[in-house]
Amino acid sequence: MPNYDYQCNVCKKTYTVTLSIKEHEKNPKPPCEHCGSKDVKRIFSNVTVITSKKS
Ligand SMILES: [Zn+2]
Repeated sequence: MPNYDYQCNVCKKTYTVTLSIKEHEKNPKPPCEHCGSKDVKRIFSNVTVITSKKS
């Protein structure tokens, strides 16, 4: 299952939520784990991308 990283706009903490694609579609912004706020934003952190092509 994919991990989704979020940062809370209220407490500024980050958290990672593991959701299935379907759960994420239903609930794309899970509330902050730390303070319960729904004012959160998705973070696109450095995902380890396997780069097989080297030019
Ligand atoms: Zn928070």
